[in-house]
Amino acid sequence: MKELYALIGQPLGHSFSATYFNDKFAREGIDACYQLWPLKSISELPGMITVHPNLKGFNVTIPYKREVMEYLNEVSDDAREAGAVNCVKVEQQSDAIRLRGFNTDIIGFSTALCEFINVAELPDLKVLVLGSGGAASAVCIALKRLGTEFLIVSRNKQTAAKSIDSNRVIEYSELTPQLIDEHRLIINTTPLGMTPEINVAPPFPWQYLSEKHYFFDLIYNPSKTLAMRIAEAHGAKVCNGLKMLYSQADAAWKIWQDESSAI
Ligand code: NAP
Repeated sequence: MKELYALIGQPLGHSFSATYFNDKFAREGIDACYQLWPLKSISELPGMITVHPNLKGFNVTIPYKREVMEYLNEVSDDAREAGAVNCVKVEQQSDAIRLRGFNTDIIGFSTALCEFINVAELPDLKVLVLGSGGAASAVCIALKRLGTEFLIVSRNKQTAAKSIDSNRVIEYSELTPQLIDEHRLIINTTPLGMTPEINVAPPFPWQYLSEKHYFFDLIYNPSKTLAMRIAEAHGAKVCNGLKMLYSQADAAWKIWQDESSAI
């Protein structure tokens, strides 16, 4: 039987993952197929797994990255630390099914960042992370491991601190020219500027950016967000989220293929 992979989430419109994996299977002659499973509730997951005995793995997107954890037999250290699972390996055993959860956004982001900025320069760069959601958690874990100092910029310190490192959260109103001068890498983890609402940008005082700044936007659609265009106009070097997207998908594929996977 054809191997099966899937994406769970709600809603699922156009999916990068489905196109990416189905193109890969066609190109590399892999007898497999990647399907979209828009689940109205995460409680539908066990039933879907039972009726698809050829399922080898699935990706998880909004809003189930956290909720899916209670359905898993095992969660990797990375996923536990991030509080989010975006990749699940399904191990069909003789009389049971074992589900193992991973977070590939951390490795995806690290890989993309190290391609954008020289690794040797990273520990000297202080970072401002805009937003405090699931993607921000993955970014912060990667930054800690790379030895980079960072602050999280949120609309609301109290709510952000519940889900993320509370000592490091500031609000947009606390951003000063001096703080921005000291923090040379700005990372957007908010969805602001993403298709279809492409004419918005995070409420950041972009005028204080200069040639010494880097701006990394996790958004990949459009390929150049309004925030990237503004940052570039002030001299900053910019990068979108496409490399991160490919890297996290490649990491998922490795997990699904490797019997002893541990990320
Ligand atoms: P999320 O949890 O829904 O939101 C991220 C954070 O953005 C929120 O916690 C919030 O932080 C801030 N935010 C949301 N709406 C805002 C608004 N109207 N104004 C200002 N701030 C707002 O989303 P996520 O899962 O972290 O994903 C965020 C983005 O990263 C999405 O665009 C997603 O596509 C992208 N992403 C890309 C990749 C990749 O591979 N390139 C991987 C993962 C995610 P505060 O409440 O603290 O302000």
